[in-house]
Amino acid sequence: MGKKVLISACLLGKNCRYNGGHSQITELNEIDVEWIPVCPEETGGLGTPRPSAEMQDNAENILNGKGKVVNNKGINVTSEFIRGAEKSLQSGLETGLKTAILKSKSPSCGIGKIYDGSFTNTLKTGDGIFAHLCQINEITCISSDNINQIKKTLAKVK
Ligand code: SF4
Repeated sequence: MGKKVLISACLLGKNCRYNGGHSQITELNEIDVEWIPVCPEETGGLGTPRPSAEMQDNAENILNGKGKVVNNKGINVTSEFIRGAEKSLQSGLETGLKTAILKSKSPSCGIGKIYDGSFTNTLKTGDGIFAHLCQINEITCISSDNINQIKKTLAKVK
């Protein structure tokens, strides 16, 4: 088997985004790795399509019960987000992988920048819940925004 790499399933073309679409990056098909696709929000029991959701605090606080994730209907979906992130992390850890390619800006998968919780299309510094969990479990996470960095990093993955 090839090198295993965790990936947000929507980046491989799975229609699991909140709006029922995907965020496929076709260049990923040319990279010689064994993808382990996960969608933390579907895994947490949120169906597709689903209302968009934003984090109301940083990932660390949310995971420690001090913050929440709500959807655009005002419903608290924190437990679904945490459950899905934990199960998806487990799928990755079971394979022994050390690298993840994650969809930018998502409240689950985003790295470095996420929406600020106001549902006004405004970004702030921070990581999604799943991305944060991966990083504290020593999985190197690369944002889908940076295809050059993805190619460079995956060329070195053993
Ligand atoms: S960004 Fe993550 S949670 Fe959102 S659809 Fe893609 S894989 Fe699922």
